[in-house]
Amino acid sequence: MVKGLGIRIASNTRMYFCAQCGKILFKQDIFCQKHRPYPTKLYKRQMPNYVHYYFYPWSPSTRAMTYALKYGRHRPFLFQMKSRLQYLLQEEGFILDELWVTPNAKGLKKSKNHAYQIAKAFGAKTIHDEHFKQGTQKHTSRLQRRKLRIQGPRPQIDMPVIADDVLTTGATVEALMQYCGWQKAIVITMAYVSKRSINFSR
Ligand SMILES: [Zn+2]
Repeated sequence: MVKGLGIRIASNTRMYFCAQCGKILFKQDIFCQKHRPYPTKLYKRQMPNYVHYYFYPWSPSTRAMTYALKYGRHRPFLFQMKSRLQYLLQEEGFILDELWVTPNAKGLKKSKNHAYQIAKAFGAKTIHDEHFKQGTQKHTSRLQRRKLRIQGPRPQIDMPVIADDVLTTGATVEALMQYCGWQKAIVITMAYVSKRSINFSR
């Protein structure tokens, strides 16, 4: 059983459990009322060529949340969180007209693409979620593969805002920036996993 994702008990019926304590939930959700991790601040990291903002530092409940966001069941959670997310972004002075979403490997449609749903929850007016594609070249080095994977036009923007669910090494963001020739960018993600916290998460 994957907590937070629910288990199928009939052809169109699922049961859901809190990802933190395992308590049965009576509707589709990730956490029970007690364990729902409401974001309280927008964290900021200054990177050499982009500024990274995120709502959740790494913790076991963040891990459960990002897992559930990635593999579906993100809608009720994002619906409950969106006014809080937008409030924290507005407090920081963000007016999100245009948001760019990193290419998703599976070419998922809007309804199933978690990065698109997250960008929507951030309150962006225009979301470019189908702008970039990933190629399928497989027999190259890892670095080359990352570069080769991205396809699509290269938009000329001074300060693009990129959205994603979780940022780890930032390799995807850097590959996207390099591909587009963007010198600087703002990256907004739900969570941040530092290299140091990876061991802790396992
Ligand atoms: Zn709970």
